[in-house]
Amino acid sequence: MVAHLPHRTLSLTEEEAAHPPAMELTGRRRMSPKDRALSETLFGEFHQDPRYREYVLGCLNCGECTTGCPAARFYDFSPREMLQIAATGDATTLWDALQEKIWSCCQCYTCNMRCRFGNDIAGIISVMRELSVRHGLEATRKTLAPFGRSLTLLMTVGTQVSADMIQPDFFRDWGPFATGSDQVWGVSSEVMRKAIPLDVLQTTRSSWEVSVQTSLELFRIYEETGVLDMLRGLDPDLTEMLVDIIEERREEFQEARETYRAALETMKGPVATFEG
Ligand code: SF4
Ligand code: SF4
Repeated sequence: MVAHLPHRTLSLTEEEAAHPPAMELTGRRRMSPKDRALSETLFGEFHQDPRYREYVLGCLNCGECTTGCPAARFYDFSPREMLQIAATGDATTLWDALQEKIWSCCQCYTCNMRCRFGNDIAGIISVMRELSVRHGLEATRKTLAPFGRSLTLLMTVGTQVSADMIQPDFFRDWGPFATGSDQVWGVSSEVMRKAIPLDVLQTTRSSWEVSVQTSLELFRIYEETGVLDMLRGLDPDLTEMLVDIIEERREEFQEARETYRAALETMKGPVATFEG
């Protein structure tokens, strides 16, 4: 007897499991049908982002942006290429850029200053990053995995590097200019640290010391703007840890406020008597 089962459309994952797909070779890697579908979605979202029209204005291909880019000096990366991908690339080239290259940029905005077309190159790279984080791309998870400690500091105290951390031992990846002597690109690192004018920013301890209220306000921004939700999709464990930290601070803040109110009430007694 043959059972007549209702027809069911297989999901892409099941389909792939049943019939391993012929992989499609993009410029840098092989792409499965599932990734191909996702790349089309990302491409659509990227071009519909309201910032796209504002940031991408055209390109002369002059390369001025790349000549001043610190990331281009050390990595296989160029802001000119990023802008070209944004302006004329297809879903595949965007997908390739989202895998790795977008994370080479240090968001210094030098490229924007140099671009005679007025492109916001650093801005469009940020839009690409948001896209990759929002969709929890596997490559993005791997790229950001070692930065849990930095993210924790950024999201709880608002900064993670202080002036006194600018030392050769802390930045070995800067290469021989930084690690071979106490010089960073020909300038004493001590001089560089002093270039930051506020004394309070000179030490790690003072940089990481923020009031509970500041910490809570900062975290509220991450909650209200959807950053926390994006992070949850990327790293749920880290997100839960951050939420726990902030919940503790909220309780701490609430207790401090109640103590303050009680103290005010105590003070009101003699004042009221005096006024009376
Ligand atoms: S913002 Fe990024 S792409 Fe632009 S110059 Fe700085 S590192 Fe390079
Ligand atoms: S500086 Fe502007 S116009 Fe020139 S290559 Fe870069 S993005 Fe294009």
